[in-house]
Amino acid sequence: MKNINDSIVLLKEKCKEHNLKLTPQRIAIYEAIWDTKKHPSADHVYKKIKRKFQSISFDTVNRTLQTFSRIGLLKVVEGQGDPKRFDPNLKKHHHVRCLKCGLIADFYYEEYDNIKVPNIVKKQFTVIDKKVLIEGICADCRTKEK
Ligand SMILES: [Zn+2]
Ligand SMILES: [Zn+2]
Repeated sequence: MKNINDSIVLLKEKCKEHNLKLTPQRIAIYEAIWDTKKHPSADHVYKKIKRKFQSISFDTVNRTLQTFSRIGLLKVVEGQGDPKRFDPNLKKHHHVRCLKCGLIADFYYEEYDNIKVPNIVKKQFTVIDKKVLIEGICADCRTKEK
């Protein structure tokens, strides 16, 4: 997504499509996450929103993020466990995750987009999506270790 206006248009469309009201809270929650590359948890988004909407509850933020992922505005990062991490990047991409600090970064790699699906999987599943998750220790954590 290029800019906030395009993103808000998408938010409006998706809400309309799913009969959801476009409330100030929903807009604020979406604004807080639409261009982040950090794959934040609900708690992280909540802390950011709280500065603007002091009365908003964690539950509202959490539920809204779940709703956004259900209607295709966000993705949930797979293979991460709890807490859920949300991803506004809807473009085809893969993740690299630090096992120490939990950093999740995006990367693009066409060879992985076109990765071969084993026959044993193809026999049992209609494949919709393929993602690669690389795990390791990030540069920051490596520096701290020294
Ligand atoms: Zn790290
Ligand atoms: Zn991502």
